[in-house]
Amino acid sequence: MTTPRVTDQAIQVIYLVSTALFILSLKWLSAPATARRGVWAGELGMLLAIGATLLYRGIVDYTWVAIALVLGTIIGVPLGRVPMTAVPQRTALSHAFGALCVALVGTAEYYLRAPGVSKFMMAVLSMEVILGSLTFTGSLMAAGKLQETLPQRPITYRGQNLVNMSLLAISVGVAVYLVLHPERAILFPLMIVIPLLFGVLMIIPIGGADMPTVISLLNSYAGLSAAAMGFVLDSKLLIIAGALDGSSGFILSVIMSKAMNRSFTNVLFGAFGQVQAASAAAKEARPVHTATAEEAAAILGAANTVVIVPGYGMAVAQAQHKVRELYDALTKRGVDVKFAIHPVAGRMPGHMNVLLAEANIPYDKLVEMDEINSEFPQTDVALVIGANDVTNPAARNDPASPIYGMPILDVDKARTVMVIKRGMSPGFAGIDNELYYLDKTLMLFGDAKTFVGDLMRQLAGEGRG
Ligand code: NDP
Repeated sequence: MTTPRVTDQAIQVIYLVSTALFILSLKWLSAPATARRGVWAGELGMLLAIGATLLYRGIVDYTWVAIALVLGTIIGVPLGRVPMTAVPQRTALSHAFGALCVALVGTAEYYLRAPGVSKFMMAVLSMEVILGSLTFTGSLMAAGKLQETLPQRPITYRGQNLVNMSLLAISVGVAVYLVLHPERAILFPLMIVIPLLFGVLMIIPIGGADMPTVISLLNSYAGLSAAAMGFVLDSKLLIIAGALDGSSGFILSVIMSKAMNRSFTNVLFGAFGQVQAASAAAKEARPVHTATAEEAAAILGAANTVVIVPGYGMAVAQAQHKVRELYDALTKRGVDVKFAIHPVAGRMPGHMNVLLAEANIPYDKLVEMDEINSEFPQTDVALVIGANDVTNPAARNDPASPIYGMPILDVDKARTVMVIKRGMSPGFAGIDNELYYLDKTLMLFGDAKTFVGDLMRQLAGEGRG
């Protein structure tokens, strides 16, 4: 009789250690220098939490647990190996799996307990199932949009917001009714089906540059639903982990919204990106100034200050190591080189920080947008490598532009601007960039990795000569 009690206590102690590790993990993840430690702490915390749960004496048969572990491993290992550029959609898929699990557990718990479900428990179960279901389909849609298996552009129709709001209101109404009458099991499936539909309809009108906010918002929903599941299963660990996930996802959404100067309502109901295709097509034929690697290297070599502005194209080309070599070569010549970091450059929060850290570029050379913007007017060359939307002056100057109001890197204020990209294709938001047509802008057409390699060769050749 005493052994199980000892095990129960041991489980609670291990859960406490896991909780502490999750909190430390979040703290360490917030700075590049400690981020690696943060990942280890998070992984150890999760390993301990799973290990302790397997000791739980309510488990009478390990067969299903073993099947789930094998299935989870088969799905999880390849998911862990996706390229860096596919991490946002991979993250959305993780949210989808977590949310599906939460919705299924909530459903099972309801049918196991009904009709004797207390009002409090029914309220928590409803929140768990509604949030879990809408996050499941919403995250699948977000992953599909980012992977481009679904159209990225907003899909809209008249009265869309009204339809969406009505669906949400109906599911909340059903939840309230069930809290008052938990025995009306016949209504329970509505609380699954309507939010599943709402999840799809909520995401299809959202497009373009709003995906980062949406994904972190879905992350927040997944966390909140997991916290609700913690109440249902009486697991303090789940409540805390879910709350951490929910609040950090929410904080990230706020940061992302600020970075794009958008409100949540506008992100969720604004159908952002709708008018972009036409404007991009209309300006296709305008002339631009171009330069060769040789000319660009000569300008860079003669500069005193260079600010490198990395973006999604650097990630696609995996050019970060070549960029590091360029940084070394210029620094050796006495050029002051910094990197300008926009919060939504690339395809996931912190994307540029991760890539530049991977290439061992010193952290103190990575300067956040607010700080670097005041330095552009004194900068000799702003070298844009595969960034587009985050440098588009239309966000400042053109009230008609869909990205108007989004804070950008003021590269157009530098004395000379050089842009490495393969052609004149727009970026994620699908709009043309006025920066490319300025007299001070030189377009360096080519793949980022190849072009930076060419610049290096030119600089080396010049150095010998
Ligand atoms: P953009 O998506 O605006 O532009 C990237 C540019 O890179 C393209 O114009 C493309 O032009 C160029 N490019 C692509 N491949 C290569 C290559 N191999 N070599 C050189 N250039 C290449 O990127 P930004 O980083 O400026 O902006 C990020 C955008 O993504 C924002 O709109 C943001 O809101 C959105 N977003 C951000 C997320 C985040 O969390 N950071 C998540 C999801 C979306 P070309 O084809 O002509 O070469």
